[in-house]
Amino acid sequence: MQERGINSTFKKIIYESSEMVFLADDTYPYNIFYANESFEEFIGESLKERNLVGLGLDINAYIFKEELILTHGDKDYSFRLELPQESSSNYFLFYKGKEVKTHGLPGKREIQQFFKNGLDLIAIGQHDFLTYLNAAVKPILGYEPAELMNTSLCPFLHEEDLEKIRSFWKSKRKQDELGFFESRVKCKDGSYKYLEFSVQFTAEYFYLIGRDKTESYSESVKTKRLNQLRKKGSELARVATWSYDPKSSSFEYDEVANLIFEKKVDLQIKFENYFSENLSNKKEEKKLEFELPEFDLGVVAEYHDAIQGRGFWLGVLSDLSEKKNIERSGELLKNIILNSPDPMLVARPDGEIFLCNEEAKKLLGVEENRKFEHLSELNVLFEESDEWKDWIDTPANEEGSRRFSTLLISNLGKQLTLEVAAKSLQEKEESFVVLSFRNISEKVTLEKTLEESSDFLMNLTEQVPGGLYQLVLDQNGKMSFSFLSRGIASVLGLTQTEIEKFEDISGAISRVHPNDLPQVIMTSVASARKGEPWQCQFRVKDNSDSEGYRWVLGAARPQALENGDMVWYGYLTDISQQKEFESKLDEARRTAEKASQIKSDFLSMISHELRTPLNAISGSVYSLLQENPNTSQKSALNTINFAVENLIIMINDLLDFQKIEAGKLTIEKAPFNLRNLVEQVMKGLSFHARDSKNDLQLHLSEGLDMRVNGDKTRLSQIMNNLITNALKFTHQGNVDVSIKLQELKNGRAKVYFEVKDTGIGIAPENQTKIFNDFDQVKPTFSTKYGGTGLGLSITRKLLNLMGSTIALESEVGKGSRFFFELELEVSDQEVQVEKPVIGSTQDFSKLHLLMAEDNDVNALVLGKIIKKWGYTFDRVGDGAQAVEILKDNQYDCILMDIQMPVMDGFEATQEIKKNIDTPVIALTAAAKLEIMEKIEECGFDGFVAKPIDAAELLKKIKEVISEKN
Ligand code: ADP
Repeated sequence: MQERGINSTFKKIIYESSEMVFLADDTYPYNIFYANESFEEFIGESLKERNLVGLGLDINAYIFKEELILTHGDKDYSFRLELPQESSSNYFLFYKGKEVKTHGLPGKREIQQFFKNGLDLIAIGQHDFLTYLNAAVKPILGYEPAELMNTSLCPFLHEEDLEKIRSFWKSKRKQDELGFFESRVKCKDGSYKYLEFSVQFTAEYFYLIGRDKTESYSESVKTKRLNQLRKKGSELARVATWSYDPKSSSFEYDEVANLIFEKKVDLQIKFENYFSENLSNKKEEKKLEFELPEFDLGVVAEYHDAIQGRGFWLGVLSDLSEKKNIERSGELLKNIILNSPDPMLVARPDGEIFLCNEEAKKLLGVEENRKFEHLSELNVLFEESDEWKDWIDTPANEEGSRRFSTLLISNLGKQLTLEVAAKSLQEKEESFVVLSFRNISEKVTLEKTLEESSDFLMNLTEQVPGGLYQLVLDQNGKMSFSFLSRGIASVLGLTQTEIEKFEDISGAISRVHPNDLPQVIMTSVASARKGEPWQCQFRVKDNSDSEGYRWVLGAARPQALENGDMVWYGYLTDISQQKEFESKLDEARRTAEKASQIKSDFLSMISHELRTPLNAISGSVYSLLQENPNTSQKSALNTINFAVENLIIMINDLLDFQKIEAGKLTIEKAPFNLRNLVEQVMKGLSFHARDSKNDLQLHLSEGLDMRVNGDKTRLSQIMNNLITNALKFTHQGNVDVSIKLQELKNGRAKVYFEVKDTGIGIAPENQTKIFNDFDQVKPTFSTKYGGTGLGLSITRKLLNLMGSTIALESEVGKGSRFFFELELEVSDQEVQVEKPVIGSTQDFSKLHLLMAEDNDVNALVLGKIIKKWGYTFDRVGDGAQAVEILKDNQYDCILMDIQMPVMDGFEATQEIKKNIDTPVIALTAAAKLEIMEKIEECGFDGFVAKPIDAAELLKKIKEVISEKN
């Protein structure tokens, strides 16, 4: 070993070290001039060049380091390095050499290699300046590493990113930890690249790794921007995005664009040519919009300079055919609104009018050609101005549409109620409010009227006396009230709480008086079955606790519903008072009836009482007259006879009166000769005229000798009465009877009757009175003139029955004139001449009669009369005897009294008629109508009233016998 200025310490190290040691020159190529055994063993033997360059060592890089790593044969060896201390020495000493065990980790050299040749930019620095950069700086940013060595990082960062990175730097540096940031970094050519950095701070250094993310960044910017563009364009139906990279002159399209081009083949070429030739270099314009009209294509292009020098065009393509369709449909929609038959208006939220159709203008009273620009123009129509704000504010607060009503004054000055429907609308970031109007004035008025009438009905329902109800009978047979007015409570004696729960019919039924219940149920069932109105009077409980009842009238009308249910609309009303009144009335009626009955009984009694003695008188006079009395006796007997006849007339009057009162009198219609009848009446009264010293004259007009149909008996009764009165109330004067034929037409004759006297006359105040029942001018008159006061009353009533009216003209002291007019049917039948019974073929010379009479006087008188006729008879004292005697004996006729002891005439006759058909004549003094009716019922063949007129009785006997044969 050469000395070469090696000191003793070095020598000691060299000789004693078991580790690798070697010495190298300090000049290139740094030859190894000494190496120990250990070095030779591990490294030296395999070395071709025994110098540091051969070992791959750049000594300068280690010049200040105490330790260096030497890689050889895939192994790392660490050495300590000692520089020569003295100026004369010119070598490096490498000692303490030993293999570095890396345990699988890359060796230092590998790491250096990795640093040097890594694709990512690796830099080391202090504070903000760089102390080391690897070679990746060149391909990434275009600089040589040396260019950036010891330069600050800041000038290379994009100024927009700088601030952010500064604060990051500050915060991370103190913490000695790992951090990440991104930044655009300036390249040597002035363009920028986008790098992602991770940085590790230690106390002194920062270690930076940067990766070029420019491509993916611009890609993401592109995507982001395209999305924005697409979003903006998405209002159009078909919007496609595209990009153009000027560097590579290449276009990229999305799927929609491909679809558009698929349809129009030339379009893509045309578009690309047009764009790249004319527009792609107009970067400074940033944004371009153009159309290719013949292809219906709209283009928006935007130059995006995401990173300087790495810009690209982005854009949207819109299929304008779609847009045009949309525009067309937009136009159509606008027209629809403008021509809508409903008033419509579209306004902006500040009230500016966007669209307003004619109908709305008309409704709001805007003149046809006037511009209507703002809703505030309507202020004059409102009661308070700016009410239109509510129109547009209301929907703004609501999600959907809202309806409300507004009052405004029309241009005709009328108040209108408008229903406004409003909905807000968001269109292309613009807000609108769509308003439609409806004139609901009429509806409102109608609703008001309806409400009023419903109130009125409700009020009516509540106010009517009694209560109203609605009752439903459903298909299951259940009956329940579906409506009850308040009044029902008071009618049924319920409290208001009770009525609220009152639904089922059974509640109502339970309140009905048990005696009235069957009637209520039966009438209800009948109403339901026949669908006829229901009406019923019944009693209901006064109230829940009381025992008392009140009378109620219920009435209802049923209605069948379509679903099969039956509904009654009805009312209940309290008729207790009416019932009380009715019962009083009933009592009064019964009293009146009783009184009338008494009157009737009285009349009957009188006639009975009168007839019995008259019977006796008449019978006796008759028999006395048959016994050849002398002249004076005969005269007296005649007077008695006249008086009796008068009395009979009177009784007959009473009978007639009663008959008319009871409505039992009928007017017969049989043919008779008018003239003959009048003459007969006159003839009958001539004696009376003579007696009263009056001149009785008949004046007949022409044409009265004719047959008419009518009741000749009643007509002669009328004339008899009037003439008798005239004769009675005239003394030594004239009584003129005039009959005139006034008209003869269509088989009918109008005949005028008049009885005129020159008698005492009738005072005006009595002229109506005299036609009333039992009325006479003065009761005292009856004593003087006789009479019952019934004659004129009967006359009036008979004429009424014949369709005529009696009239009177009279003056006191001068006389009276009674007159009437009768319309009579002219008869074309022969007048039936009554065939006299006597002279018929029947032989009446010998008859055997049975007399049933309890009264001995009557029996005596009647017996005498029968004997006078030359007939024989048997007498029995009661009905039972009559029945008995008839079992063994035969008679031609039976004269049967009615009122008899043991068995009366009715019963006896019924018994008799069961076995034999012998004619039976009733003899009765009772004038009662019922008796007449009963006589007929019991099978009598005829009747003769007591007092018996002998001639009449004989006539009747012959009549009944003739009829039987
Ligand atoms: P009476 O049976 O009592 O005659 P009328 O009914 O026939 O009853 O007559 C009623 C009254 O009318 C008579 O009582 C008489 O006062 C008056 N009267 C009727 N006819 C005449 C007459 N021709 N002249 C005067 N008074 C008459």
